[in-house]
Amino acid sequence: MIEDKNPQRTSISDLGEFGLIDHLTKNFSIKHKTTVKGIGDDAAVLDFKGKKTIVTTDLLVEGVHFDLSYMPLKHLGYKSVIVNLSDVYAMNAKATQITVSIAISNRFPLEALEELYAGIKLACDIYDVDLVGGDTTSSNKGLLITVTALGEANEEDIVYRNGAKPNDLLVVSGDLGGAYLGLQVLEREKQVFQVNPKNQPDLDQYTYIIERQLKPEARKDIPELLKKLEVKPTSMIDISDGLSSEIIHLCKQSNVGCNLHEDKIPLDPQVISTCEEFDISSSTVALSGGEDYELLFTISQDDYPKIKANPSLTVIGHMTDAKEGMHLITRANTKIAIQARGWNSFKGNQA
Ligand code: ADP
Ligand code: MG
Repeated sequence: MIEDKNPQRTSISDLGEFGLIDHLTKNFSIKHKTTVKGIGDDAAVLDFKGKKTIVTTDLLVEGVHFDLSYMPLKHLGYKSVIVNLSDVYAMNAKATQITVSIAISNRFPLEALEELYAGIKLACDIYDVDLVGGDTTSSNKGLLITVTALGEANEEDIVYRNGAKPNDLLVVSGDLGGAYLGLQVLEREKQVFQVNPKNQPDLDQYTYIIERQLKPEARKDIPELLKKLEVKPTSMIDISDGLSSEIIHLCKQSNVGCNLHEDKIPLDPQVISTCEEFDISSSTVALSGGEDYELLFTISQDDYPKIKANPSLTVIGHMTDAKEGMHLITRANTKIAIQARGWNSFKGNQA
């Protein structure tokens, strides 16, 4: 579906492993004082000077987590960094470094890896993080990418999943459901394309949701905003698997229940119109879709005046005693139990 803009194919074996690493990483510069030593030795050296260190990692496997027939490699590089940074921000921390490890089959020429690293570099520049290491190896089949992100935070600023209290407000950033719907559009167009390769898809009316899928952003701005507003969430998580499963994580780990209001869930107009076209419920998509990389958190009611005017934040419910359970209050004002479906209900192989 995506045209090969790089007809040139340079074999990786021409460069050798060290030549390859050098070639791919030579344009990355170090931005942070906390990076004492980056790429080039046996290990990186970091110095967080009394702050706590945040570490998180994600493994992405071709055919399981991404499909290169519609995912350009540059976007894949970008997204693989973003999904990790999102986890750092979900701790209310600042992301500062990443490592990137790749396993590649001989199907990939140098030009493909250059594209991948162009996306990684873009994410490093936009999100202000240093690439400080990684590993490079071959795979028998397909592409694997592991990104590890590191970050820093003052101990008192770190927000875990387990601090929510009854009566706290449940807040979400941005809007939900777009990434899942973007994937549905891309899968549909891929099938059309397989039947008729001359049929170039017209995706104009889906630009926002496709971008949510192919080039998601992480909410670097939210920990910064909360600090400025002097709000410390009582619990926080990022929405990688869908709103319902993330709410369940917060509730279980905090030992609380919750009431989530269906009519409060923030949806982009493109999500609503595409749901109508696909004849699926926008609430189901928001609850179960996943990959939105928004932040879901709880705050004390006392902090409500500080956040209420903010266009990036929506209060979607409140926490209750654990014995009251976890419920969705529907538009028709009925109460139904929240169930975790997440990706698994849609794609058997997603982790
Ligand atoms: P080792 O033999 O100790 O595993 P390598 O030769 O794999 O070391 O790596 C040399 C340097 O290059 C190290 O700093 C390592 O972190 C870095 N590096 C290796 N592969 C990558 C990669 N794909 N992206 C970024 N840095 C890498
Ligand atoms: Mg190595």
